[in-house]
Amino acid sequence: MKPDIHPEYHKINAVCACGHEFELGSVNSEMKVEICSACHPFFTGKQKLIDTAGRIEKFKKKYAKFNKKDEK
Ligand SMILES: [Zn+2]
Repeated sequence: MKPDIHPEYHKINAVCACGHEFELGSVNSEMKVEICSACHPFFTGKQKLIDTAGRIEKFKKKYAKFNKKDEK
């Protein structure tokens, strides 16, 4: 998925595999993610689901302006 080719986006509720919900911008009406700021090893110190972590963090940074209250 290349963020640059998104035609437009709006705020949605994303649901993480850990159960944490947060808002972000997306062209989809909902989104499920495998990792978030509540369960990311950078924040928790635990090691899991590492492969997707970098992508989610980049995604969150890109859409930080929509997601400021979720930024820690
Ligand atoms: Zn999570």
